[in-house]
Amino acid sequence: MRLDDEQESSHYEVQDGRGGGFGGGLGGGLGMLLPLIGSRFGCGGIVVVLVIMVVMGMNPLSLVGGGGGQPVQTERPASTELTAVQRTSLKVLGSTERRWTDIFKAQGQEYPPPTLVFYSQNGQSGCGAAQSAMGPFYCPADQRIYLDTDFFNEMESRFNAPGDFPIGYIIAHEVGHHIQTITGEADRIRKAQQRVPEAEGNALQVKMELQADCYAGVWAARDTNLMEAGDLEEGMRAAQAIGDDTLQKAAGRRPVPESFTHGSSAQRMEWLRKGLSTGDPAQCDTFNGAI
Ligand SMILES: [Zn+2]
Repeated sequence: MRLDDEQESSHYEVQDGRGGGFGGGLGGGLGMLLPLIGSRFGCGGIVVVLVIMVVMGMNPLSLVGGGGGQPVQTERPASTELTAVQRTSLKVLGSTERRWTDIFKAQGQEYPPPTLVFYSQNGQSGCGAAQSAMGPFYCPADQRIYLDTDFFNEMESRFNAPGDFPIGYIIAHEVGHHIQTITGEADRIRKAQQRVPEAEGNALQVKMELQADCYAGVWAARDTNLMEAGDLEEGMRAAQAIGDDTLQKAAGRRPVPESFTHGSSAQRMEWLRKGLSTGDPAQCDTFNGAI
């Protein structure tokens, strides 16, 4: 990616999770459950938990405050104190802010940007504990993207998806979930999920993830300066590497399409490419008008 001219976003925080990370009012059981759900279901799992809490009359924001445990320190150091990969992430975030601001402005709307939170090992989010094993995720309750920068190193070694474009793809994908949240799409999807059996709910989840992939492509397409030779291939390799079928095979299991929550490698590549080739969020209707 060509990011030299990009301004770093100022919407970030750094969490020092060495104090334990499971602080807050998680009350043990749920606190331990959230990371499991997160790792099993990816970004959507957190959403499911929130829906369950709302349905049960619980306040999802109660996950944030109160209770025992060590509070996680949140600070905002000067970006010069950050690592190279963190500064790259902030340039990507800044770029997404400018592109999505333009898109929203064209429709007479304002774009409220998300905040990027860097954490190490054990963090705390408005959606519960954040752990490296969960990978990057977006929490709709506090409109923050949680990123353990070690994840990028892991991605490089484990998923064989090196290069810097995957950093952009992943952050832009999480920004895609933010777009879904502020436009109300995420709410509509959650409501639709409550009305259908689990397999169909998973299918809706897949469509939500593929739409976020497409939105990531829209961002990259709109930043005409950004793409360098090889970036498209890097992005496709990353999309291929994190498809559910590829991950299930890598775990020694036979791929079960009904259990997919993010989409197959082919689907993820298809929708990232669709966003990239059109630069038009209206082309990202993975639901085919059904939501
Ligand atoms: Zn996602």
